[in-house]
Amino acid sequence: MNVQKKAELPKTVDRAAWLIEADRKHLWHPFTQMQTWMDNEEVIVIEKGEGCWLVDTEGRRYLDGASSLWCNLHGHRVKAIDQAISEQLQRVAHSTLLGLANVPSIELAVELVSLAPDGLTRVFYSDAGATAVEAAVKMAFQYQQQSGQNNRTRFAALGAAYHGDTLGSVSLGGIGVMHDLFDPLRFDVLRIPSPYCYRCPLELEKSSCSMECASEAERVLEVNADTLAGVVIEPLVQGAAGMIVHPKGYLARIRAACHRLGILLIADEVATGFGRTGSFFACTQEGVLPDLLCIAKGLSGGYLPLAATLATEAVFEAFLGPVDSNRTFFHGHTYTGNPLGCVAALANLQLLKDGLLDEIPAKAEKLGDLIERHISHMLHVGDVRRKGLMVGIELVGDRQTKEPYLTSLRMGHRVILEARKRGVILRPLGDVVVLMPPLVISKDEMTTLVDVTADSIRVVTELSQ
Ligand code: PMP
Repeated sequence: MNVQKKAELPKTVDRAAWLIEADRKHLWHPFTQMQTWMDNEEVIVIEKGEGCWLVDTEGRRYLDGASSLWCNLHGHRVKAIDQAISEQLQRVAHSTLLGLANVPSIELAVELVSLAPDGLTRVFYSDAGATAVEAAVKMAFQYQQQSGQNNRTRFAALGAAYHGDTLGSVSLGGIGVMHDLFDPLRFDVLRIPSPYCYRCPLELEKSSCSMECASEAERVLEVNADTLAGVVIEPLVQGAAGMIVHPKGYLARIRAACHRLGILLIADEVATGFGRTGSFFACTQEGVLPDLLCIAKGLSGGYLPLAATLATEAVFEAFLGPVDSNRTFFHGHTYTGNPLGCVAALANLQLLKDGLLDEIPAKAEKLGDLIERHISHMLHVGDVRRKGLMVGIELVGDRQTKEPYLTSLRMGHRVILEARKRGVILRPLGDVVVLMPPLVISKDEMTTLVDVTADSIRVVTELSQ
């Protein structure tokens, strides 16, 4: 037998280089063309974090302008969350929710029910945004089947929707480059045009339209109502689509239509939840109670993989009956209700309630002001979209005609590489530069974030053309 010596991390100055080499050799990064990564992409290896900053193996500091993929709320190494996790470690790291209960998952469920829109009374745990959506879709389907609505087997979702990467979520997805390849594996989804005001699918102008997009959505839902089990929507902001901010009142109209037509409304608040849009949940800004609510990302403050699908009692009750009634929800994951994740979430929610949530409107206004002063007018900035602390800056080749850049130019990607050189981590969505900092970001840090973003956009779009 060929027993190989375990690879060891050298404690010498070469450590950083060794890590990069080992990464290139053994890792497969998500959403990444690994050929470029292995050939020539500069690899930054993060070693630690402090507040809103990440520190790499060479000691370089970067402002975490993307909240470590939209999940960090209070910064890194937050005392209260660290402590909650380490105390829970003294008790138990994990035990299952299949046939057993555990303390933190119960306490967190009570807390979530009290914070979520009134009427969501049941909490089903999982571990990622995609799994929260997947569970919701299966719940909605099974609910309709068990409510005598056997024809209601389909789902509707928005154009350019993104709900995660499991196959159910991919079926709901509407982003060609990510989803089309999987067409043979996807279930059929009824597509509602996304209310993307900068490039209106109905070719109207926001200043003069009467939200015909909502009327069109209502029409499509009405025509297909008999076969629809549910509508899945990201409330107020479609994140991965490019931070598309929906017109005010759109969500409430979809809610009302679903209610009228017996279709369940599934709100995917994986990105918008936990203060990002200015309120605990985006739905409440339009007084909307969804039938199912999907949460993840910020739920654990950006610490641990934890997600949940919340349901109304009416949905839940359709699953009740004797064991042989076949009404059980046969779905779950090994780490469902993980105690470490749940205590992190409890500490996270406490911090939000202790004041951070109240600070969001002022922070959002400050961020908006800075962007307005330094970015909105730029030569190649076509549109700036913002809701709370979620921002999308759409770069265009021509501001007048809204002509996009050629995809092959990778302008968004080039901007974030420039930002890195200046000590800020961002992540683009195509040519939309996204700013989504931890909610705890200070005024000075916001100034750095916006200054660096403006400089980086200028260098890429104006100076290096
Ligand atoms: N839904 C939305 C709205 C999202 O933004 C995301 C992730 N960006 C997901 C679902 C999937 O979440 P995860 O990556 O945790 O599976």
